[in-house]
Amino acid sequence: MSETQKVLLVTGGSRGIGAAVCRQASKAGYRVAINYASNQAAADALVAEIKAGGGQAFAVKGDVGGEADILTIFETVDRTYGRLDAFVNNAGIVDAKARVDEMSAARLERMMRINVVGSILCAREAVKRMSTRHGGPGGSIVNLSSAAAVLGAPDNYVDYAASKGAIDTLTVGLAREVAAEGVRVNAVRPGIIDTDIHASGGQPDRVALIQGTLPMKRAGTADEVAAAILYLLSDAASYTTGAILNVSGGR
Ligand code: NAP
Repeated sequence: MSETQKVLLVTGGSRGIGAAVCRQASKAGYRVAINYASNQAAADALVAEIKAGGGQAFAVKGDVGGEADILTIFETVDRTYGRLDAFVNNAGIVDAKARVDEMSAARLERMMRINVVGSILCAREAVKRMSTRHGGPGGSIVNLSSAAAVLGAPDNYVDYAASKGAIDTLTVGLAREVAAEGVRVNAVRPGIIDTDIHASGGQPDRVALIQGTLPMKRAGTADEVAAAILYLLSDAASYTTGAILNVSGGR
């Protein structure tokens, strides 16, 4: 029975937006593969929560900033569940607030390695498993862009914004490349969402400081972004590909 249940892999699925996607996907009937980078306790807690709710999930460690780890992540899903129907290219980082004229080459290389090269390599592995060209049954991919791709994030992190601009382009190009092969590729562009990413980038007060300036006068929640991702993954979006959906509260 469970072999017929669809399988979703979420990179960076253990916390924040990715975790909200995993929770909602489990409730929608997916078996969930939860990738994380280093915080095993958070990943294990989410697996336990999903199992306690009657769902199926497992956690797989791996840094999307390296090709070997990416291969391990996907091969672990192959071994554990034997299929891949849906993929959320979610893992991503910000760095400390800085102007471009202060950024080191090492910072830029890390940003692009994780957010851009990692996302494209993960998309490659998903397409190899889903595309009818490779004998797969089709599938659906959702990439995590950001409102920063459009706004540019001046005085904060233009490098991050540029990495998300690349995600927009990946979404449009890959969608067209595999549209006739049963694979849909879409993206969401979250605005300011209340997760730990801001603290990880050295700005723990970012949501509190900025929310009054936002059109809705509040930040978004991880669940609000996850709902849009679940829609794009689902058959309800069967004629939607190459779309980039703003989930930014009007920002
Ligand atoms: P978050 O709360 O910081 O969660 C990050 C998740 O990604 C964790 O599960 C973390 O694992 C994992 N991760 C971090 N680096 C990784 C790597 N190199 N390889 C594999 N996994 C990694 O992030 P979030 O706010 O949910 O953001 C998720 C995505 O949405 C990102 O692509 C981000 O750019 C995008 N986004 C966020 C916002 C926002 O305001 N929050 C806005 C626009 C776009 P560990 O727990 O092991 O560290």
